[in-house]
Amino acid sequence: MPMPKFRKVVILGYRSVGKSSLALQFVKGDFPEEYDPTIENTWSKSLVLGTDEFDLQLVDTAGQDEYSLLPHSFVLGIHGYVLVYSVTSLKSFQIANGIHTKLQDRRGKSLMPIVLVGNKNDLPAQSREVKTEDGKKLADSWGAAFMEASAKDPEKSHVIFTKIIEEIDRVESSFCDDRKCQVM
Ligand code: GDP
Repeated sequence: MPMPKFRKVVILGYRSVGKSSLALQFVKGDFPEEYDPTIENTWSKSLVLGTDEFDLQLVDTAGQDEYSLLPHSFVLGIHGYVLVYSVTSLKSFQIANGIHTKLQDRRGKSLMPIVLVGNKNDLPAQSREVKTEDGKKLADSWGAAFMEASAKDPEKSHVIFTKIIEEIDRVESSFCDDRKCQVM
Protein backbone atom coordinates (compact mmCIF):
# COMPACT_ATOMS: atom_id res chain seq x y z
CA MET A 1 0.00 0.00 0.00
CA PRO A 2 1.46 3.44 -0.89
CA MET A 3 2.03 6.05 1.83
CA PRO A 4 -1.13 7.92 2.89
CA LYS A 5 -1.49 11.30 1.20
CA PHE A 6 -1.36 14.16 3.70
CA ARG A 7 -4.06 16.82 3.32
CA LYS A 8 -4.44 19.85 5.56
CA VAL A 9 -7.82 21.58 5.47
CA VAL A 10 -9.01 24.68 7.34
CA ILE A 11 -12.64 25.16 8.37
CA LEU A 12 -13.59 28.83 8.13
CA GLY A 13 -16.77 30.81 8.72
CA TYR A 14 -18.63 33.15 11.06
CA ARG A 15 -19.01 32.04 14.68
CA SER A 16 -21.79 29.62 15.68
CA VAL A 17 -22.45 28.39 12.16
CA GLY A 18 -21.53 24.83 13.19
CA LYS A 19 -17.85 24.52 12.21
CA SER A 20 -16.90 22.55 15.34
CA SER A 21 -20.09 20.48 15.23
CA LEU A 22 -19.42 19.40 11.64
CA ALA A 23 -15.79 18.55 12.46
CA LEU A 24 -16.76 16.58 15.57
CA GLN A 25 -19.53 14.75 13.77
CA PHE A 26 -17.00 13.71 11.13
CA VAL A 27 -14.08 12.90 13.44
CA LYS A 28 -15.91 11.41 16.42
CA GLY A 29 -19.32 10.54 14.94
CA ASP A 30 -21.14 12.63 17.51
CA PHE A 31 -23.24 15.81 17.59
CA PRO A 32 -22.15 17.67 20.72
CA GLU A 33 -25.11 19.52 22.31
CA GLU A 34 -22.60 21.32 24.54
CA TYR A 35 -19.22 22.28 23.11
CA ASP A 36 -16.86 24.95 24.32
CA PRO A 37 -15.83 27.12 21.38
CA THR A 38 -12.07 26.83 21.50
CA ILE A 39 -9.66 29.31 19.98
CA GLU A 40 -8.49 26.71 17.50
CA ASN A 41 -8.42 22.94 17.41
CA THR A 42 -6.75 20.50 15.07
CA TRP A 43 -8.18 17.05 14.39
CA SER A 44 -6.65 14.17 12.46
CA LYS A 45 -8.47 11.42 10.68
CA SER A 46 -7.37 8.71 8.30
CA LEU A 47 -9.70 7.69 5.53
CA VAL A 48 -9.69 5.62 2.39
CA LEU A 49 -11.24 6.92 -0.81
CA GLY A 50 -11.19 4.49 -3.69
CA THR A 51 -7.70 3.02 -3.73
CA ASP A 52 -6.07 5.97 -1.95
CA GLU A 53 -5.46 6.43 1.73
CA PHE A 54 -5.54 9.95 3.16
CA ASP A 55 -4.21 11.40 6.36
CA LEU A 56 -6.51 14.40 6.83
CA GLN A 57 -5.64 17.16 9.25
CA LEU A 58 -8.56 19.49 10.01
CA VAL A 59 -8.03 22.91 11.55
CA ASP A 60 -11.23 24.05 13.27
CA THR A 61 -10.93 27.82 13.68
CA ALA A 62 -12.59 30.04 16.26
CA GLY A 63 -14.52 31.90 13.56
CA GLN A 64 -14.06 35.03 11.50
CA ASP A 65 -16.03 38.23 11.07
CA GLU A 66 -15.83 41.18 8.71
CA TYR A 67 -12.82 42.59 10.59
CA SER A 68 -10.75 39.39 10.84
CA LEU A 69 -7.38 39.18 9.18
CA LEU A 70 -6.39 35.72 8.02
CA PRO A 71 -3.14 34.57 9.66
CA HIS A 72 -0.30 32.96 7.67
CA SER A 73 -1.18 29.62 9.22
CA PHE A 74 -4.48 29.66 7.28
CA VAL A 75 -2.63 30.09 4.00
CA LEU A 76 0.76 28.38 4.06
CA GLY A 77 0.75 24.62 3.63
CA ILE A 78 -3.06 24.48 3.39
CA HIS A 79 -4.47 22.24 0.67
CA GLY A 80 -8.12 23.24 0.88
CA TYR A 81 -10.93 25.00 2.74
CA VAL A 82 -14.35 24.15 4.05
CA LEU A 83 -16.18 27.47 4.22
CA VAL A 84 -19.29 27.27 6.39
CA TYR A 85 -22.31 29.53 6.80
CA SER A 86 -25.66 28.84 8.40
CA VAL A 87 -28.73 28.81 6.14
CA THR A 88 -30.48 30.61 9.03
CA SER A 89 -28.08 33.58 8.96
CA LEU A 90 -27.73 35.94 6.03
CA LYS A 91 -24.91 37.66 7.88
CA SER A 92 -22.91 34.41 8.02
CA PHE A 93 -23.41 34.03 4.25
CA GLN A 94 -22.07 37.54 3.63
CA ILE A 95 -19.13 36.84 5.95
CA ALA A 96 -18.35 33.65 3.96
CA ASN A 97 -18.15 35.74 0.81
CA GLY A 98 -15.85 38.22 2.57
CA ILE A 99 -13.59 35.40 3.76
CA HIS A 100 -13.35 34.11 0.20
CA THR A 101 -12.24 37.55 -1.02
CA LYS A 102 -9.59 37.73 1.71
CA LEU A 103 -8.36 34.23 0.83
CA GLN A 104 -8.06 35.18 -2.81
CA ASP A 105 -6.12 38.33 -1.90
CA ARG A 106 -3.75 36.27 0.26
CA ARG A 107 -3.29 33.27 -2.01
CA GLY A 108 -3.17 35.03 -5.35
CA LYS A 109 -3.46 32.61 -8.20
CA SER A 110 -2.44 29.55 -6.21
CA LEU A 111 -4.69 26.51 -5.99
CA MET A 112 -7.73 27.09 -3.80
CA PRO A 113 -9.99 24.05 -3.50
CA ILE A 114 -13.12 25.01 -1.55
CA VAL A 115 -16.34 23.38 -0.43
CA LEU A 116 -18.96 25.97 0.53
CA VAL A 117 -21.37 24.52 3.11
CA GLY A 118 -24.79 25.89 4.04
CA ASN A 119 -25.18 24.27 7.47
CA LYS A 120 -28.20 23.83 9.79
CA ASN A 121 -30.57 22.82 7.02
CA ASP A 122 -32.42 20.65 9.56
CA LEU A 123 -33.93 23.81 11.11
CA PRO A 124 -37.52 24.78 10.19
CA ALA A 125 -38.04 26.47 6.83
CA GLN A 126 -39.33 29.66 8.47
CA SER A 127 -35.92 30.28 10.09
CA ARG A 128 -34.12 30.11 6.74
CA GLU A 129 -32.46 33.33 5.53
CA VAL A 130 -30.35 31.97 2.64
CA LYS A 131 -31.91 30.14 -0.30
CA THR A 132 -30.22 26.96 -1.56
CA GLU A 133 -29.92 28.47 -5.04
CA ASP A 134 -28.06 31.52 -3.67
CA GLY A 135 -25.50 29.26 -1.99
CA LYS A 136 -25.08 27.30 -5.21
CA LYS A 137 -24.70 30.49 -7.28
CA LEU A 138 -22.03 31.85 -4.95
CA ALA A 139 -20.04 28.59 -5.03
CA ASP A 140 -20.36 28.46 -8.85
CA SER A 141 -19.00 32.00 -9.11
CA TRP A 142 -15.91 30.81 -7.19
CA GLY A 143 -15.58 27.54 -9.14
CA ALA A 144 -16.10 25.74 -5.81
CA ALA A 145 -18.21 22.79 -4.71
CA PHE A 146 -21.42 23.43 -2.75
CA MET A 147 -23.65 21.51 -0.44
CA GLU A 148 -26.19 22.07 2.30
CA ALA A 149 -25.80 19.98 5.44
CA SER A 150 -26.66 19.48 9.06
CA ALA A 151 -24.09 18.61 11.69
CA LYS A 152 -26.81 16.36 13.14
CA ASP A 153 -26.58 14.20 10.01
CA PRO A 154 -23.48 11.95 10.12
CA GLU A 155 -23.66 11.09 6.42
CA LYS A 156 -23.79 14.71 5.24
CA SER A 157 -20.91 15.65 7.55
CA HIS A 158 -18.87 12.81 6.07
CA VAL A 159 -19.63 13.89 2.50
CA ILE A 160 -18.30 17.42 3.20
CA PHE A 161 -14.86 16.15 4.11
CA THR A 162 -14.62 13.53 1.38
CA LYS A 163 -15.71 16.24 -1.07
CA ILE A 164 -12.88 18.59 -0.05
CA ILE A 165 -10.38 15.78 -0.59
CA GLU A 166 -11.87 15.20 -4.04
CA GLU A 167 -11.82 18.94 -4.75
CA ILE A 168 -8.12 19.11 -3.86
CA ASP A 169 -7.42 16.36 -6.41
CA ARG A 170 -9.74 17.91 -9.01
CA VAL A 171 -8.21 21.39 -8.73
CA GLU A 172 -4.71 19.92 -8.73
CA SER A 173 -5.27 17.93 -11.90
CA SER A 174 -6.96 20.82 -13.74
CA PHE A 175 -4.08 23.12 -12.74
CA CYS A 176 -1.32 20.66 -13.44
CA ASP A 177 -2.83 19.25 -16.62
CA ASP A 178 0.19 18.33 -18.69
CA ARG A 179 2.72 20.04 -16.40
CA LYS A 180 4.39 17.42 -14.23
CA CYS A 181 3.32 18.60 -10.79
CA GLN A 182 1.77 17.16 -7.69
CA VAL A 183 0.15 18.44 -4.47
CA MET A 184 2.60 17.92 -1.61
P1 GDP B 1 -18.94 27.15 15.49
O1 GDP B 1 -18.77 28.35 16.39
O2 GDP B 1 -19.11 27.58 14.05
O3 GDP B 1 -17.88 26.12 15.66
O4 GDP B 1 -20.36 26.49 15.86
P2 GDP B 1 -20.67 25.27 16.84
O5 GDP B 1 -20.34 23.99 16.21
O6 GDP B 1 -20.07 25.57 18.19
O7 GDP B 1 -22.27 25.37 16.88
C1 GDP B 1 -22.93 26.54 17.36
C2 GDP B 1 -24.32 26.14 17.83
O8 GDP B 1 -25.11 25.67 16.73
C3 GDP B 1 -24.31 24.99 18.85
O9 GDP B 1 -25.35 25.23 19.78
C4 GDP B 1 -24.61 23.77 18.01
O10 GDP B 1 -25.24 22.75 18.76
C5 GDP B 1 -25.54 24.34 16.95
N1 GDP B 1 -25.44 23.64 15.65
C6 GDP B 1 -24.32 23.40 14.95
N2 GDP B 1 -24.60 22.77 13.80
C7 GDP B 1 -25.94 22.60 13.77
C8 GDP B 1 -26.85 22.01 12.83
O11 GDP B 1 -26.48 21.53 11.75
N3 GDP B 1 -28.19 22.05 13.16
C9 GDP B 1 -28.64 22.59 14.31
N4 GDP B 1 -29.96 22.57 14.53
N5 GDP B 1 -27.82 23.16 15.21
C10 GDP B 1 -26.49 23.17 14.95
